[in-house]
Amino acid sequence: MTSRLPKSIDPFKFCKKKTAISGQIDVRQLKRLSKIASTETGVVTIDLVFEKNSSRVNHVHGSIDAVISLICQNCLKEFDTEFHLEMALAFVTSESGMMKVEPMESVIVEDSKVDLFHLIEDELILALPISAKHKDCKKIIHNSQLGEIIEETIEKKENPFEILKQMKH
Ligand SMILES: [Zn+2]
Repeated sequence: MTSRLPKSIDPFKFCKKKTAISGQIDVRQLKRLSKIASTETGVVTIDLVFEKNSSRVNHVHGSIDAVISLICQNCLKEFDTEFHLEMALAFVTSESGMMKVEPMESVIVEDSKVDLFHLIEDELILALPISAKHKDCKKIIHNSQLGEIIEETIEKKENPFEILKQMKH
């Protein structure tokens, strides 16, 4: 168990040595995620293995588990949401490399460097619900003022897909 996770890694070196990493990340360390989820409360637990698969493709696979506090868009109270994600991502050096590993998802690595936290954050952002709600929220809204507040909150929430798109350029 690694208590201190490396932020920047060389994925090819990790895959060559078949490196396993596990540990926890505080949600407040993931700035984009905490902004989108409007919370800094939560912990992300990762358990990943970097290796070459049978086709010699450098990749990482494993699980990401997280408990993140989201705001219910119905009653505006925070509630904990659990996430369990299976991650599988190949590391390539060019767009043609990306096509070669399809249908596996891949990421282009520049200068043999990858921001591990960034990768994990991307996976979690894509898994976030567009509109978070308690599973059985008891609050019944019949106050028009409250309705306006909720609308405002939803409008302020940035679309995670848009943010990812911006990051890629
Ligand atoms: Zn609620």
